[in-house]
Amino acid sequence: MPIEKEKILSVEPERIREKSRFVLDGMDISGHWNRMFEQRVLWGYEPDRLDQVTKLDGGESLGWCYQCGKCVGVCPVDVVGDYGPRKIFRKVQSGIDLFTDDDLWLCTTCGNCLRVCPKEVDMIQIMPAVREQAVLEGHMPPELQDAFEKTAKYGNPLGEPARKRADWTREAGVEVPILAKTKRAVDVLWWVECYPAYHPRGREASRALARTLAALGIDFGIVGVDEKCVADSQRLAGEKGLFESLAEDNVKTLAKYEFRRLMVTDPHAYNAFKNEYPKHGGSYDVVHYTQLLAPLVSKVEWKKTLAARVTFHDPCYLGRHNGEYEAPREILRAIPGVEVVEMFRCRQNGYCCGGGGGGMWLDGFNAPHLEERLSERRVREAVEVGADVLAVCCPFEVSRFEDAVKSTGNEGKLVVRDIIELVDEARGARQ
Ligand code: SF4
Ligand code: SF4
Repeated sequence: MPIEKEKILSVEPERIREKSRFVLDGMDISGHWNRMFEQRVLWGYEPDRLDQVTKLDGGESLGWCYQCGKCVGVCPVDVVGDYGPRKIFRKVQSGIDLFTDDDLWLCTTCGNCLRVCPKEVDMIQIMPAVREQAVLEGHMPPELQDAFEKTAKYGNPLGEPARKRADWTREAGVEVPILAKTKRAVDVLWWVECYPAYHPRGREASRALARTLAALGIDFGIVGVDEKCVADSQRLAGEKGLFESLAEDNVKTLAKYEFRRLMVTDPHAYNAFKNEYPKHGGSYDVVHYTQLLAPLVSKVEWKKTLAARVTFHDPCYLGRHNGEYEAPREILRAIPGVEVVEMFRCRQNGYCCGGGGGGMWLDGFNAPHLEERLSERRVREAVEVGADVLAVCCPFEVSRFEDAVKSTGNEGKLVVRDIIELVDEARGARQ
């Protein structure tokens, strides 16, 4: 039975909505019920805009989107705004220039859309490719430019002097061997990264980790002043050249030392060392600190019971991107008195703190596009499950969530702690 086309399509979308109706066997199958956007005018598209994206190395998969909508339901940015690959595709197809549009910077490269997309539309490739081009043409938010410039000048996005990188060790309460001085082989080379070396809250977690490693008798050392930012977030935010230059420096630095395993505090560094540095000549047996400690929890001497209801926020770059969900939970479950409760969005469907893919430096820029910060939404979710403690194991998250606890009025109800701080406290070592 041929489909009867009742009316001819017109070029004006408003009129089309009323005029076009397809009837098959007397049944209206025009499908207005499942249309997310206005009815499309095929000849009204600007294919050039989409072509500009899909012809980039890494941008190809945006063209594969067939608008099923699965991605929008899991996109953390859509929860607090209006976003997701389906919407990006449609906007670009309708003529929006993604290279200059604010939407370019909202994606945190959390990877949840790719997990559910039947067409493998890959925002972790698309966004860095388009951003790289935008950065080359000078279109980027000023906050991001500032973070890039500080990383290039000082080797860290906080703009701190390199000579202060190991200052945190002075108040650790244990000796933290610096390999340039000790000049000996170690079992574990600890790559500290920038926020754990410079940010006040990151430093507290670093000291707690140093004390725990020492208590467990782990043979470890740090690089100290020669360590530079691993720069994975800068890469995902479009500064591929900066990433490559720092990767080259860091691979050379690591080549000076003898070690068996490379331990990182930062899931972004974990991702870079595991998946990106091998392309730049650096292949290592890399572990996140939670992976190193989880098999050792039975050896920890616990001295205190914490009596806390703890919920854990899966970092996107430890969990979804690299498949580690258990190690942090194993440590939490081993701490005396800790009850672990899960938030609705956890593990593979974990929510994003908003700090990935350059988001760490873009809260101000993104604010007009969002009802609230992603970190604020996450703090509300932690409070909803009745948690006293929001536990994290990514150095971006402590400060982000602590700010969000204040701005959502949850001070006194919820505290934010790195997992290693809880371990340190239950060992009775917290200083
Ligand atoms: S899930 Fe994939 S194919 Fe479906 S709308 Fe999203 S990007 Fe397009
Ligand atoms: S990577 Fe994450 S933030 Fe970006 S579009 Fe996909 S789900 Fe949304």
